[in-house]
Amino acid sequence: MSLEIYKFDSYKKKEQLSTDCNEINLTADISQYKFSLFNHLFEHNDYLYAFNSTTSILIKLPQKNKQAFECISQAKSYLENNLFKLLIKYGFIISKDDDEIAKIRTNIMAARFKTDSLSLTIMTTDFCNFKCPYCYEGEEKKRINLTEPVQDEILKILDILSSRIIQFKIMWLGGEPLCALNIIENLSEKAIGLCEKKNIKFSAGIITNGYLLTEATVKKLKKYHVEAIQVTVDGYKEVHDRTRILLNGKGTYDKIFKNIEVALKYYDKITIRVNIDRNNFKSAKDFLHDLKKKNLEKNLPIYFAKIFTSPFYKDKSILTQEEFLNIQDELYQEMDMLGFSYPNFKLYPKLQANNCTATKALSFVVDPSGQLYKCDSDIGDKTKTIGNVFDISYSFLQGFGSANHQYCNKHRSSRFFITPNFFDSFMCCWPL
Ligand code: SF4
Repeated sequence: MSLEIYKFDSYKKKEQLSTDCNEINLTADISQYKFSLFNHLFEHNDYLYAFNSTTSILIKLPQKNKQAFECISQAKSYLENNLFKLLIKYGFIISKDDDEIAKIRTNIMAARFKTDSLSLTIMTTDFCNFKCPYCYEGEEKKRINLTEPVQDEILKILDILSSRIIQFKIMWLGGEPLCALNIIENLSEKAIGLCEKKNIKFSAGIITNGYLLTEATVKKLKKYHVEAIQVTVDGYKEVHDRTRILLNGKGTYDKIFKNIEVALKYYDKITIRVNIDRNNFKSAKDFLHDLKKKNLEKNLPIYFAKIFTSPFYKDKSILTQEEFLNIQDELYQEMDMLGFSYPNFKLYPKLQANNCTATKALSFVVDPSGQLYKCDSDIGDKTKTIGNVFDISYSFLQGFGSANHQYCNKHRSSRFFITPNFFDSFMCCWPL
């Protein structure tokens, strides 16, 4: 039997696995085994492939083994003992008593209700120095900054939880968060002090349009434990400069990449999110070539994101999910060819207990006026708020770790949290 077995990680690196299966002892009765629910079988170019999405392991074997596979999957016969053993070794065949769904459910619930870490996405301001046409906030920003009293309440939340958490994470968001750098400095200074006193690990990240990411700012971000920076662009210069524009209408591409090159003196990598729609996807390849020309292909993990509709933006240029996935695939292939170090973002299916902040118990989004949300795409929609920093109590926070809290039942957070038949009725906001 000639076959190849690979394990993929989410960065598309594949590791060839051993086909040795001597350590597996078969139980005589085939009825003691069953096929994993997460096997996907498909044929391509005279080969048969089996992919298991809980392990990300792929087996490639000649088509002539199809019959063996079918017999095994229908529990008719081992037919080919070595193949059978390998399928056991790599999780394609499991014991008939294994409850895969129960295991996954337990892992998901354990991750969701882990309460040793507080994560806050903090909107320092709703103001922005750009006016992108698709902005979820619309063109008219209210120019509200996170006030001192809201900052104090955030610190109170940290204090309330300080005896039970070991980690405090902030994601700085806007508007453009760097338009209120003083707030990042002020709140970080106090939060870091409190964390040091209480022996809590503090870390932060920032999502920025990159325009104000000067060397002086980067040094401050380093000082305030910002470990991850994400910059959003719309593809190559000529297209980017049509949509990612300053309030005076000027383009921003050159300045952003000048800033990124300087920031890379202080950070090993900076994540780039490339917004894609029908108007700009063709320029994304030019964008990749431009990064290559600038020798940036090793330091910029890139991912592509679909531009969505919002109450302010309902454009015909928005891609369908299928169109987007096909374009994304093509772009990742181009990145592979150009030698990017991080050629993809979750290209292969990967089992995740938690894929967004909305599903974690101690994770909240705070807007500049102190309103709390579970998802940053809800910011500004008063019907989706789950409370306010001024009303926070220990029992409120604890409630998000328990099954029957009033907020989980009454509010939209039930979409992310508990219902009696939680697992079956769970809907994720993630559109993939
Ligand atoms: S950079 Fe972000 S917040 Fe600013 S206008 Fe563009 S989409 Fe809106």
